[in-house]
Amino acid sequence: MSARLIDGKHIAADLLAKIKTEVDNRLATGLRAPCLAVVLIGKDPASEIYVRNKTEACQRVGIRSVAHKIEKTPTENALLQLVDELNANPDIDGILIQLPLPPPLRADLLIERIRPSKDVDGFHPYNVGRLAVRRPALRPCTPAGVMTLLQHTGVDLHGLHAVIIGASNHVGRPMGLELLLAGCTVTTCHRFTKNLESHVAEADILIAAAGKARLIQGHWIKEGAIVIDIGMNRLADGRLVGDIDFQEAEKRAGWITPVPGGVGPMTVATLLANTLAAASCP
Ligand code: NAD
Repeated sequence: MSARLIDGKHIAADLLAKIKTEVDNRLATGLRAPCLAVVLIGKDPASEIYVRNKTEACQRVGIRSVAHKIEKTPTENALLQLVDELNANPDIDGILIQLPLPPPLRADLLIERIRPSKDVDGFHPYNVGRLAVRRPALRPCTPAGVMTLLQHTGVDLHGLHAVIIGASNHVGRPMGLELLLAGCTVTTCHRFTKNLESHVAEADILIAAAGKARLIQGHWIKEGAIVIDIGMNRLADGRLVGDIDFQEAEKRAGWITPVPGGVGPMTVATLLANTLAAASCP
């Protein structure tokens, strides 16, 4: 058996085209373009690439982006003041602080300062809480992007057993909330989970978000499972791989995402969908 590929690049391109149409419609009615403020602190090469991808995607769909690149680590107070200014600026619809932040800056503190209606990453406790009580507002981008990928398989998700590997605030935990909302039975594994293989073997839907190259072996996977690899790990030779041994996994899975070209493009497209949504709400 060979798994069907879930083509994140293609699905994200479709979503971007829809966003562009909606942005064009806004402009045609005399409204301004949505605007995303991106805050990048320090000189982390990976963060610089992520920010470039996001601002290029904004350009493609007609969303304006305003970059605040601060190379020398500022004080927390200076950053809180910047967030306050962006919150108060009526021309800014979305605020994104690129993570990770250089120490000693505390990401949680800064994220909680963003006005929830401008929190287009969906990381603010208000937005995560809305998802938890089944009344989502701005949804965390990566889990919401994964849900779009799952919907594209056409598989009825109700009652399926979803197993998530990873329980971080921004990825694993909100992923569990999304899957619960979609009617799945959810198991979340983390670094203290015993016998990971036995949990993976039970998964109708397997979502890997541990950030450990090839943590999950292909032969662990249940025949026919939907396999989503969120992990992005750079090997010493420069290659980007996920958390799952793709070559072995695709022989058993029913559906599978590649890395790269799976979840990554959906995260960016969902960020832009959130920015458009933020611009559309008074
Ligand atoms: P994180 O380090 O904050 O969290 C990792 C989680 O994995 C933790 O809950 C930890 O307990 C768990 N974990 C670690 N080792 C484990 C093990 N051996 N067994 C079971 N669980 C284990 O990372 P994160 O921010 O959640 O990101 C996870 C991965 O997803 C990273 O590779 C990151 O680059 C990637 N990511 C990709 C996208 C995308 O758009 N594709 C977006 C966000 C994150």
